[in-house]
Amino acid sequence: MPVPFSQISEKYDIVVIGSGLGGLTAANRLAYCGHRVLLLEHHHRLGGLATWFKRKGHIFDISLHGFPYGMVKTCKKYWNKAIMGSIVQLKNIVFDNPQFSLQTTFDKEDFTHILETVFKIPLSTINRFFTLVSGMNFYDDQSMTTRELFEEFFPGRTDIHRFLMEPITYANGSTLDDPAITYGIVFSNFMNRGVFTFVGGTDKLIGMMADELEKNGVTICTKVKVENIIVEKGRVRGIEAHGKTVTTRAVVSNSGITNTIYNLTDRDAFSDEFLEKAAKIRVNNSSCQVYMGIRDGEKIDDVGDLLFTSTAPEFNSTELLDKETKSKTFSIYYPRTRPGLNRYTIVASMNSRYEDWIKLDDKSYQAEKDALIARSLKDLNRYLPGVAQKIDWTEAATPRTFNRYTLHTKGTSFGTKFEGLDVSRTIFKEVAGLFHVGSVGIIMSGWLGAINYGVIVSNDVDSYLRS
Ligand SMILES: Cc1cc2nc3c(=O)[nH]c(=O)nc-3n(C[C@H](O)[C@H](O)[C@H](O)COP(=O)(O)OP(=O)(O)OC[C@H]3O[C@@H](n4cnc5c(N)ncnc54)[C@H](O)[C@@H]3O)c2cc1C
Repeated sequence: MPVPFSQISEKYDIVVIGSGLGGLTAANRLAYCGHRVLLLEHHHRLGGLATWFKRKGHIFDISLHGFPYGMVKTCKKYWNKAIMGSIVQLKNIVFDNPQFSLQTTFDKEDFTHILETVFKIPLSTINRFFTLVSGMNFYDDQSMTTRELFEEFFPGRTDIHRFLMEPITYANGSTLDDPAITYGIVFSNFMNRGVFTFVGGTDKLIGMMADELEKNGVTICTKVKVENIIVEKGRVRGIEAHGKTVTTRAVVSNSGITNTIYNLTDRDAFSDEFLEKAAKIRVNNSSCQVYMGIRDGEKIDDVGDLLFTSTAPEFNSTELLDKETKSKTFSIYYPRTRPGLNRYTIVASMNSRYEDWIKLDDKSYQAEKDALIARSLKDLNRYLPGVAQKIDWTEAATPRTFNRYTLHTKGTSFGTKFEGLDVSRTIFKEVAGLFHVGSVGIIMSGWLGAINYGVIVSNDVDSYLRS
């Protein structure tokens, strides 16, 4: 249970700023190791982008569309067996676009079969491709782009490029021009066994995580926006929020890396060289979503769990970002997603640019949101004819919404491009006791990436405090 900020102690071993999956995991691991941890979250609920909202009896999930099998091991090892036990596979992934329409379990075996039988690629080429991407790791050469990788194995085959890339662009905002390793690592994670989800929904997961945090003794305060990280003589001394100072030896910031450097910490705390590196960080794109709730008592057919749909002739990262993109993912939540709540909900997700939405005045903003909803309903009708008559709630979120709730620079959905990782990993060398956790570098994003990064950073903090 969150504690009122006015009632907490004045001193903790560690303050974690932000309760995204990275912040929650770091807080939990550090408390488990015996440290006194204070977790401060500006929103009224925990989870960051791993969140949900309720309307008219519906519960809408924001970022529960699918994660790789790796979550099973990670949750078992770093959270608990009950959390692990609610992870199940989504078996029916659908692609539908002018170049091909197919269903897949989204794993290596099925992709190999499809590449061989539908796209007519020799098995030897497919095997060579999988061997290369599954062997990719962080220390590999970063000069090869995903575009070059695809051209090497499937030259000119824009249909295959789309098949391999479109879901990953939705999953982490990467483009054909990003380093191939950012593609290879994330794609291979999914190819391991397919796409998985959490039965019971995001609300259940975050509730279980909150229980675990409480068991391990983390002090949690919500509705507390940290304004400042206090640095003295090159070391973290504390944080300031709501006019109060909390003293601490270590801060783990789960606020975005750009927020952490430019808004939370005094620039004088960093060397010119570090600030120069930080200035080169590009934040990733943001998102738009349309939430659609099916009226209580109504049913819809099972048309798949995750539908990658597009009427654009070919895959194009820029087209995916357009305000009027013809490409979107539908996540369909059947009653089996939340046993006990006999409801169907649908979420349409699109990648999006903050710049396109921030410039609109209130009236045009509302009109654009209405148009977004109308386009999503029209596209959904191709798969569920007449569905609009069964829907009793629609609502849209835009990059402005994501910015408001998470405070992320330009409402970024997937943190930063690759260069952000090095800055995040080296911030503690600039300011002793200052650590960053959260989506960076494309690789450390998504539910699995954020949790795994939380584990890595908590190990760094633990060694720092014990040294
Ligand atoms: C539309 C959308 C769909 C997605 N779908 C998927 C998916 O299907 N599968 C998947 O694996 N991933 C998905 N993701 C990505 C995934 O949700 C994120 O990568 C992950 O949840 C981010 O975790 P994080 O640790 O970086 O923290 P965030 O979730 O970014 O949370 C940061 C937290 O810090 C808080 N904060 C920031 N500044 C302060 C401050 N000054 N004081 C106090 N608190 C502060 C914020 O309020 C927030 O709660 C999706 C993301 C979006 C936007």
